[in-house]
Amino acid sequence: MRDPKYDILFEPVQIGPVKTKNRFYQVPHCNGMGHVHPSAMAGMRAVKAEGGWGVVCTEECEISPLSEFSPYIEARLWEDRDVPALARMADAVHQHGSLAGIELAFNGYSAPNRYSREIPWAPSNTPVRSYDPVQARAMTASDIRELRNLHRAAALRARDAGFDIIYVYAGHDLGLPFHFLTPRNNRRTDEYGGSVENRVRLLRELIEDTKEAVGDRCGVAVRLAVDEQSGREGLEKSGDGAAIFSLLAELPDLWDINVADWSNDSITARFSNEGFQEEFLTGLKALTSKPIVGVGRFTSPDTMVSQIRRGVLDLIGAARPSIADPFLPRKIETGRADEIRECIGCNICVTGDHTSTPVRCTQNPTMGEEWRRGWHPERIQPKRSDSRALVIGSGPAGLECARALGTRGYDVALVEATRTLGGRLVRETRLPGLASWGRVIDYRVDAIGRLENVEIYRESQLTADDVMDFGAEHVFVATGSRWRNDGLGREIRYPLEGLDQIKVLTPDDVLAGADLPAKVVLFDDDHYYMGSALAELLRMKGIEVTFVTPATDVSAWTHNTLEQHRIQKRLLELGVQIITAHSIERLVSGGVSLSCIYTGRTKTIEGEAVLLVTSREPEQTLYDQLLSKAAEREAAGIRTVKLIGDCNAPGTVAAAVYAGHRAARLTDGSDDNVYFKRELPALDAAFI
Ligand code: ADP
Ligand code: SF4
Repeated sequence: MRDPKYDILFEPVQIGPVKTKNRFYQVPHCNGMGHVHPSAMAGMRAVKAEGGWGVVCTEECEISPLSEFSPYIEARLWEDRDVPALARMADAVHQHGSLAGIELAFNGYSAPNRYSREIPWAPSNTPVRSYDPVQARAMTASDIRELRNLHRAAALRARDAGFDIIYVYAGHDLGLPFHFLTPRNNRRTDEYGGSVENRVRLLRELIEDTKEAVGDRCGVAVRLAVDEQSGREGLEKSGDGAAIFSLLAELPDLWDINVADWSNDSITARFSNEGFQEEFLTGLKALTSKPIVGVGRFTSPDTMVSQIRRGVLDLIGAARPSIADPFLPRKIETGRADEIRECIGCNICVTGDHTSTPVRCTQNPTMGEEWRRGWHPERIQPKRSDSRALVIGSGPAGLECARALGTRGYDVALVEATRTLGGRLVRETRLPGLASWGRVIDYRVDAIGRLENVEIYRESQLTADDVMDFGAEHVFVATGSRWRNDGLGREIRYPLEGLDQIKVLTPDDVLAGADLPAKVVLFDDDHYYMGSALAELLRMKGIEVTFVTPATDVSAWTHNTLEQHRIQKRLLELGVQIITAHSIERLVSGGVSLSCIYTGRTKTIEGEAVLLVTSREPEQTLYDQLLSKAAEREAAGIRTVKLIGDCNAPGTVAAAVYAGHRAARLTDGSDDNVYFKRELPALDAAFI
């Protein structure tokens, strides 16, 4: 059973008229499913409730076409017709004895209304937050009345859908009430602008309206960002942040406190540690008798207990830790805290929302697949035969495949060429800020260690003949990939000219400890973390770095992980010279000739080596050998040979883990797994 020191985490907390069963609170989080994939969303939330989260909330929920968030897929409660989809989630959460929360949101100038084409509302006239050529207009007194009516109507619908906790959203520089709080957005001269008391008025009214409408049955929560982490320019906890909180301290039933904007709230591990929001929560509890929920990428029960005991917060809020491990509370409750699948802080989950696709997670390959594929994070179908499995390669794909196969009950041999398990992560976790990615290895090595039916063989580079000798019916080739050393990638479609003119390095060389000259030109056509993390590493070694990319931003894809601005800032602060919108024309002696991607104009920059971060080549030698030996394979009793992970097609760590998991699930089953359950649009009866 659990250590009694964790008992405090399982105490109930009163939130207005409702009571949680424990202190684990899944705060609202986006998931790219929302109103488009409601059953998938409900299925995902239900698994969290099953995993012990005492409260499980929706993502942002639109309350009107006057503020809709397209193309981002959030929840929607515009009218009564939207109730059943959300009721499905509330019901599913209730079935596991948890409370269901809903975050009603009206995002004002943060929502350009691309779908509804309505003019966005704001405290004062302003362009919208995105680069859309749209301006929001200053709300009139009658608009404010209408907003209050819309919010009240949505609260009633949410109650009717079965929700227990109903939010007024003033967070992330998204919710319109937040815009009223901040002088830079609110230049009004009426009773809603000017003094802090006036700026708070709208939020106060919305809380009062919501309490009056549903407060007898539902707890009313306020999500408030108390600091924008942008100094005096924005809201600061030490100034207006605490003042706003004090003015409203006793009004809601629950405070959900965080920071704005979203990139500060969901900061990645590359730029923050567990518990990073504590400074913004400290002291608030003294100002209110109402419970406070806060986040901080909590995965350690000791940190959670410490935050509660020290009076920082009352409820352990989590979005990402609940995605990485929906069963985190249950594991602590049953004395299995060491089995928690800890979030690594990579924000792959956020990329789902940013690309309007269902949430996915590096650590939890079942995330988003609960309903559509029927995958469960803790349960997997038992093996269907007594076949033996051989997994070759212990990177993220091989480790997950071996773990999942072992959990199914297969006898598994996991064979790794090197001494250390983890594949490319062994090297990549040495990059600045990526140490926590080692949790992908740790969780799986630990889980495999608990399975008697999985054997690990290290320092065993397998050949095709070795594989034949092994006598396993199912062979999984997870041999990874290597970085190309000829520049070929997205922008450069043929090997570079002049490869013999200058020292050429790849990320593999640098991570393997190659000798580095004093001046390096780094060409990044990968656009994820590798280029910028290597630039950082090289600067830490005192090497002069010129960072060249065909994109207009450094690490352009990391806009999706909310990191791009931080990465660019860090490189600039480290003195990396950045040249954007340029490709390599050719390599020359003592440098690199670049060409502008717009004009084609060329220029030569100096360097003693070029570090090419362009694309990876799948390592398929062993697989090809196995395929070419059909007769031997048959004689050896090998029934299936599958390529999984980077050796199939190099991608993210999340993709490799998913590939390993999927292959394990499909073993001895149907191979026709391309299609999954999906909800079709309900056709309107009337057409033309
Ligand atoms: P992925 O991300 O797809 O899991 P990685 O590159 O992280 O791929 O891991 C691949 C692993 O496979 C590496 O640890 C590598 O040492 C190992 N490996 C490659 N070829 C062989 C082989 N022939 N026998 C055993 N292990 C191998
Ligand atoms: Fe954590 Fe990464 Fe999973 Fe998001 S995707 S929950 S940050 S491990």
